[in-house]
Amino acid sequence: MTRRLTHPHWCGRHHHCTAPAGEHRSAPLAWPTAYGRLIATRVLTADGRHRLELRAVVDLDPTEQAAGRQARHTAVLVDLAVRRATRPSLQRPA
Ligand SMILES: [Zn+2]
Repeated sequence: MTRRLTHPHWCGRHHHCTAPAGEHRSAPLAWPTAYGRLIATRVLTADGRHRLELRAVVDLDPTEQAAGRQARHTAVLVDLAVRRATRPSLQRPA
């Protein structure tokens, strides 16, 4: 007997989804920002982990030195923002 694959309501199916061996993936959601563009994809892995994949396209200063500084600073601040957004106290309402 074959089990019918059930997709989460947000799964993009077709070429986005690689379940059951791979991952359920939403269609990427992209929006323009003041700094460039942000692209978000929701994922449910084969082992049941819920994830958010983010890709940021960031315009940098045209000079190499400033661009390098902006790139490092941006990466650190993105890491801090994600750490803050995913801290345990925000996971479930008390
Ligand atoms: Zn799926």
